[in-house]
Amino acid sequence: MRLLLLSDIHANLEALEACLAAAPAYDRVVNLGDVVGYNASPNEVCERVRAMGYPVVRGNHDRACSGLSSLAEFNLVAAMSARWTQTMLSTDHLDWLRNLPQGPLRPEEFPGLEFVHGSPRDEDEYVLNNTTAGVDFHLPGHADKIFFGHTHLQGGFVCRNNKTQPITPQYATGDQVERCGIILAAGERYLINPGSVGQPRDNDWRAAFALYENNEDGSARVTYYRVPYDVQQAQSKILAANLPERLATRLKLGR
Ligand code: ZN
Repeated sequence: MRLLLLSDIHANLEALEACLAAAPAYDRVVNLGDVVGYNASPNEVCERVRAMGYPVVRGNHDRACSGLSSLAEFNLVAAMSARWTQTMLSTDHLDWLRNLPQGPLRPEEFPGLEFVHGSPRDEDEYVLNNTTAGVDFHLPGHADKIFFGHTHLQGGFVCRNNKTQPITPQYATGDQVERCGIILAAGERYLINPGSVGQPRDNDWRAAFALYENNEDGSARVTYYRVPYDVQQAQSKILAANLPERLATRLKLGR
């Protein structure tokens, strides 16, 4: 089985299309949330994401932009973009976002896998370091392989011999399509972040996603991808929509 892992698309249509064009063959798409917010193509991105099917975990921006939670938790720029998104979205897409399930999701058809937006204990938690990941690895009742987003940082963590270590994909260039694969060993626990499609924050502007594959013999691997896309087009749309300029400039900085 091959799962295409997408997260934090954030209404960036240009980045999403580049990822789909570069993606290898896959059986299903798993979406880890934050379909909308920040960027300027919320309706187009909702339409494409809905056509990909489920599972889709709701993200904090999906929750806020669809009016399920207050914007008080957001900084000024995020709140402005959420308000704009809410006024732009069609009623149908708003309803769809409102009804997205909160993680963790453990679909029966994907045994041993768990999908969350922030972390297995809190959809708003940022799993940014070994300490937080270590606590999450030792929560009772969760899967060995957890896929998360929210931080917009591609990689994740492994718990090996009871020790938590970061996973950081290594790339040779900053402007080509590239991939970086890791083997998931049996008996170890993983927190895997495919990175953000639409607003990477790991100092690499290229759109991020990943592919998870497991084989009959129980072996599994994750391949991380980085894909250049038409940033200028995404930036022009942000400026044309009168969204904060910072949302446009940060795309090319990958921050
Ligand atoms: Zn996000």
